[in-house]
Amino acid sequence: MTRAIWCVLLLVACGAPPQATSDSATSMAAAMRLPTDGWIDVTAVLAPGRTPVYEGDAPLRVEQLKDMRRGDALTLSKLDMGAHSGTHVDAPRHFVRDGVGIDSIPLERLIGAARVIVIDDSVQAITRAELDRHDWRGAPRLLFRTRSSARGWMDSVQFHRDFAYLAPDAADALVDAAVQLVGIDYISAEQFGASAPETHRRLLGRGIPIVEGLDLRGAPAGDCDVIILPLRVAGADGAPARALLRPRARR
Ligand SMILES: [Zn+2]
Repeated sequence: MTRAIWCVLLLVACGAPPQATSDSATSMAAAMRLPTDGWIDVTAVLAPGRTPVYEGDAPLRVEQLKDMRRGDALTLSKLDMGAHSGTHVDAPRHFVRDGVGIDSIPLERLIGAARVIVIDDSVQAITRAELDRHDWRGAPRLLFRTRSSARGWMDSVQFHRDFAYLAPDAADALVDAAVQLVGIDYISAEQFGASAPETHRRLLGRGIPIVEGLDLRGAPAGDCDVIILPLRVAGADGAPARALLRPRARR
């Protein structure tokens, strides 16, 4: 009989639980715990006077219907905003007449492995040529961290027209590579003033949701996992979302 078994027998005889039981209880508790370590919140804060609104889009308002600071029994607010406010997801219906609404986008597209690609501050148009300067192939979801994050533009009420955008030929490359989701760090993925919404049409036309308005200041380049959860508004063309990112160990 080994010394370890003697120890267990001795513990049982003394009324103390065997170490093995304690270990399995600990591992069971760990298995039941949802790991929250390492997640980065890449959602822009929604706040009037702080959240940029796309030129011509609905303003963001928060109205206090009740306010305990004014003596009301409770605090209750009303949110008034466009569907594409702050960090949000564009559903195919945004530019595809009978496309899928935000409530029907499969969760598999919105949750899973992704890669953060860092685009230099000097680059405004993420063209196919620019895309191919980066190691993007093989990533099922791509998030572009551009000059917009570097300049803190999702955290500044002023609307900037010269945000970095995804050019249509880059969108084609992502479609050909069967990417599941594309994300960018300003309110639109399309060039401001583009004659036609070709980038949106190409991605949404193939059922690829676009996450816009991410705040990627804290997101390191490279592989990660993402969870992007747009509000489930029935049949909507888009909706604000909470977006979380967890970097993976460096390859
Ligand atoms: Zn949008």
